[in-house]
Amino acid sequence: MKIVVGHLYPDYLNIYADRGNIAVLARRAAWRGYDVELRPVLIGEPVRPGEYDLLYVGGGQDREQALVAQDLVAKAEGVLEAVAEGAALLAVCGGYQLLGRSYRDFHGTDLPGIGLFPLETDAGETRMIGDVLLECELEPGERRTLAGFENHAGRTRLDVGAHPLGRVLAGFGNDGESGWEGCRVGRAVGTYLHGPLLPRNPWFADWLLAQAFAHRLGDPPELEPLPDDLETEAHAVSARRAQLRGGRR
Ligand code: GLN
Repeated sequence: MKIVVGHLYPDYLNIYADRGNIAVLARRAAWRGYDVELRPVLIGEPVRPGEYDLLYVGGGQDREQALVAQDLVAKAEGVLEAVAEGAALLAVCGGYQLLGRSYRDFHGTDLPGIGLFPLETDAGETRMIGDVLLECELEPGERRTLAGFENHAGRTRLDVGAHPLGRVLAGFGNDGESGWEGCRVGRAVGTYLHGPLLPRNPWFADWLLAQAFAHRLGDPPELEPLPDDLETEAHAVSARRAQLRGGRR
């Protein structure tokens, strides 16, 4: 059985090895006997709802965001419909910002977003850089930690009632003040966490895979556990670094 992953703008939005997240999804699916068909979605190409089980968009500097922003608006209907009908989605940093309503960049230029996430972002004077540690509860009663790396000028404000991805234990997060990081809308998750994120957070990679399978199968399948010793060690190292160095609120 296979899932189809749509990778938006792999040629423009890919910093801090964000495309490594795709490699992890494909490998963890393959280790369970599933196939991942990867379809790049470039500028000028449509997002056809129903075609993808998971959509992915990476991060990028203001310049790259400006190069794709108008094209992403032209894809808005497809992305919004795909998520509304149950596709999973992971958006990182610059991609996360453009899936909100707008991003005002470092020079004060307003880039339109598509409004999937109920939030807006303005670039500040300084960059928020460093290791990050979050506490998440994507499934009721299941508290887990996410460890990653952030580097952004953007300060993201969630709307009242919006669901953050997690609570900041160490690091800056959405704005360095609210104590929250990321945003979640159903099976769609936006985050500032680079790294790439998924190699050092195998539970989250499996949660995303299960959401993508749920889109194809109806319910998220139980994925057999994998021997994640290396991944668990990478998480521990990243978490320790965040606790030692992460930005202090
Ligand atoms: N250009 C955006 C910012 O600075 C996003 C950066 C990124 O994707 N790392 O906030």
